[in-house]
Amino acid sequence: MLAFDPMKAHLYSVRMHASLENRHISGAERLVGKEGVEEAAASLVRRALDHAQGSAESIRLSVDLVDPDQVHFGCLPDVHTFDAPDVESARKKALQLLLLAGVSEDAVRSAMENLVAGAAPGGGNMRGAMLIGHRSGARFEPDRAKGVRARHMDYSPKGRAELDAALCDQGIGGDRLRDALVLAAKVMAAPGVLAELCWSDDPDYTTGYVAAPQLGYNRIAPLKTRGDERGGRAFFIDEDRRQPEALLRYLRHAVFVADSIGRIFPPERFKQ
Ligand code: AMP
Repeated sequence: MLAFDPMKAHLYSVRMHASLENRHISGAERLVGKEGVEEAAASLVRRALDHAQGSAESIRLSVDLVDPDQVHFGCLPDVHTFDAPDVESARKKALQLLLLAGVSEDAVRSAMENLVAGAAPGGGNMRGAMLIGHRSGARFEPDRAKGVRARHMDYSPKGRAELDAALCDQGIGGDRLRDALVLAAKVMAAPGVLAELCWSDDPDYTTGYVAAPQLGYNRIAPLKTRGDERGGRAFFIDEDRRQPEALLRYLRHAVFVADSIGRIFPPERFKQ
């Protein structure tokens, strides 16, 4: 187990970006104590070389000591899984959950239409997330091509071990879920964020999710059709308590370490 002392929290951010044929294919970050830097770097390089879309041709690694004052320890949300018979019912389920989280139907439709069409100008995928007003559905991210990227989130060794054991009990797992869960945990703790909607841009990965503080992390399959290369994320922000600078500062600079986990519920099948 990596050396990691939450009380001292002298953490390094180890980040990897990988590309193939000049296209970004993978990016990930680990937050580790000094003793864990080499192992984290090696595992990120391995991940880029073993990527499902092909072995990376170019890998960029960066290692930075993080400001201890920025480190927050948190808990993961509960995890629910819903298996739907088709994309339409899955999106209805996502809509229902987002309505419960206080997002308007207009705002959900705006987010879904953007994800379906490709949220970046010209219909491509964004690198980060859209910021969508919870009532109007208007977009507030400062740069529509890049979107807003949440950075600096990972597990403590204890949090990671607890999660791996719990996921193994339920027969689910994988880097993708681990990364998305800790991202959602950080985003849900952000000032003014009510909920998040995501489906991947990976054509082979059709499970998406809705996360919200009072609803937990809800995996929903299939939120898109297999083969569809479009995907993205929407962070729904409370338009009555909009604090764009505090939100962007938190998403980009606060360091979130998940040190404990929530409950993991068995999958539910449903018909619409
Ligand atoms: P992925 O879950 O990695 O397939 O990413 C799906 C989409 O979510 C990407 O196309 C981006 O639009 C968005 N995204 C990925 N990583 C982040 C991040 N760290 N912060 C905000 N949005 C992200």
